[in-house]
Amino acid sequence: KSGFIAIVGRPNVGKSTFMNRVIGEKIAIMSDKPQTTRNKIQGVLTEKDVQMIFIDTPGIHKPKHKLGDYMVKVAENTLNEVDAIMFMINAEEGYGRGDQFIIDRLERINQPVFLIVNKIDKVHPDQLLQLIDQYRTMLDFEEIVPISALEGNNVNHLLGVLKNHL
Ligand code: GDP
Ligand code: MG
Repeated sequence: KSGFIAIVGRPNVGKSTFMNRVIGEKIAIMSDKPQTTRNKIQGVLTEKDVQMIFIDTPGIHKPKHKLGDYMVKVAENTLNEVDAIMFMINAEEGYGRGDQFIIDRLERINQPVFLIVNKIDKVHPDQLLQLIDQYRTMLDFEEIVPISALEGNNVNHLLGVLKNHL
């Protein structure tokens, strides 16, 4: 099994932290060249029965200038080509306008979207459940997976969930 998985989310939700945890810092830094940073940063996770190619997609936010318009288009093209999309949110901050911009884009894409609620180490379980209830009505998510990219909670479970969809 192998497949491409795009990670989208507002700045600071934890996309790079997740990539570093899963791929290892060395490779994440190696591929972080100036020309790839704007479009895609890829990391490959190879295990005995699966290969997952992660693409950090930082370009999806409301453009402030022409170059930004172009970057959103590039990012949207990427999303149309992958096998699965991780839409990452920050449990601590909750819903924001930046999320709505991304959700509006994801509505037009047919690929399966997984809602990844990150930074669960920072919130009370009740707050987490409330947040999940709020988000589940916003888009038809394939699955909702809470994690802590920083501490590693539930990250292996998430990899298993993604693997099942490849
Ligand atoms: P990105 O902009 O989406 O790539 O976000 P980063 O990966 O750069 O993370 C932004 C900040 O959030 C950093 O200070 C991380 O250490 C922190 N962070 C990321 N994941 C977690 C998490 O699961 N828990 C906590 N407490 N902090 C996190
Ligand atoms: Mg980042």
